[in-house]
Amino acid sequence: MPVPDEDAFRTEVRGWLAASLAGDFAPLVGSGGPGREHEFVPERMAWERLLGANGWIGLGWPEADGGRGLPWGHEVIFYEEYARAGAPARVGHIGEQLLGPTLLLFGTAEQRARFLPGILSGTELWCQGYSEPGAGSDLAGVSTKARLDAGEWHLDGQKVWTSLAQFADWCFVLARTDAAAERHRGLSYLLVPMRQPGVEVRPIVQLTGTSEFNEVFFDDARAAAGDIVGGPGDGWRVAMGTLMVERGVSTLGQQLGFQREFEAVIATARATGAIDDPDIGARIVEAWAGLEVMRYTALATLARASGAASGTEPNVNKLIWAQWHQRLGELAVDVCGAGATLAGPGYELDNAQRLFLYTRADTIYGGSNEIQRNVIAERGLGLPREPR
Ligand SMILES: Cc1cc2nc3c(=O)[nH]c(=O)nc-3n(C[C@H](O)[C@H](O)[C@H](O)COP(=O)(O)OP(=O)(O)OC[C@H]3O[C@@H](n4cnc5c(N)ncnc54)[C@H](O)[C@@H]3O)c2cc1C
Repeated sequence: MPVPDEDAFRTEVRGWLAASLAGDFAPLVGSGGPGREHEFVPERMAWERLLGANGWIGLGWPEADGGRGLPWGHEVIFYEEYARAGAPARVGHIGEQLLGPTLLLFGTAEQRARFLPGILSGTELWCQGYSEPGAGSDLAGVSTKARLDAGEWHLDGQKVWTSLAQFADWCFVLARTDAAAERHRGLSYLLVPMRQPGVEVRPIVQLTGTSEFNEVFFDDARAAAGDIVGGPGDGWRVAMGTLMVERGVSTLGQQLGFQREFEAVIATARATGAIDDPDIGARIVEAWAGLEVMRYTALATLARASGAASGTEPNVNKLIWAQWHQRLGELAVDVCGAGATLAGPGYELDNAQRLFLYTRADTIYGGSNEIQRNVIAERGLGLPREPR
């Protein structure tokens, strides 16, 4: 397919979003943001299917794999317009942004043909089964076991903090398939159906009073023998590949989301009079400066031919945006005044309170601050390695 002109593409995206968010999906505008993942879940799943049916998922994936093969500049436009329209937070992002790119890199032709269409059509949702009670930052400590028997993988063990597992159809699981091998070498990357008797999902109630993530128990859960990405023992390499899939072009969309949150903070500060407090004013200016720095850093990354970050750049970016967003969450409740410490009847929280509580997690998930600093120190700056 010929690549559309950027201006025409922007007009098309903007027009489609405006028309699609005007009808039945109008209540979804602005829904599902940080700490509000519980909002309109069935409707947001239907929205995923609408996105898929109209070719808005996998814009940059190769056409041979069902994507649209568009350049990154077009993807940037889509994410910018998506955020600007206040379109709902995605529930299919784990499939589109993590598993899909992993299969494009490491999957067989059969695996790509089987799994990519479900992601592209928004009909199959995925979750990520890496963390366990005894393996978070130290991911090589995974102890969920899988063994091949009579043409099927049999899984036993427990995952934790599994985001959106309660809605997912599939989970990509890092499991130990060779107990005798050295830690990293005994792992495999399996694609496991969630809706089967051997899988139990127990939602975890978070500070927000809702449950984005879950415990997932495998009790002789099954996966088809061929649903392993890479070979047995290749799990570490594939899992690291997934983690390296840079957020890339979606970063600018994320930042437009940050910008909207920032504008809401200023509006509240004006309404409550907090804007007259010099300390609050200074924090607002600092937040604005941080937002500008993140935006220009992302544009500089994207301006390179590949649009991909290199070296320890993803670690630096994660460290910076996580801290920035957490401070914004603090500012969001501080401008509300003392009332922000009270929940409404039935633990009802407003958007500022949800933002504050959710952003406590920003410096933990996707690699904690301490881990990012370790990587930057050891791999980026060549400082002495921490004692093992
Ligand atoms: C909102 C949210 C969603 C998540 N979603 C998912 C998901 O979908 N799938 C999934 O698999 N996981 C998910 N996680 C889990 C996340 O990846 C882990 O929480 C994270 O990797 C940290 O692991 P841990 O919680 O076991 O903490 P630990 O690894 O036990 O760390 C505890 C503390 O020790 C510090 N620490 C650990 N090791 C070192 C070190 N070597 N040097 C210095 N400090 C260190 C850490 O920084 C942290 O402060 C999610 C987490 C959150 C908060």
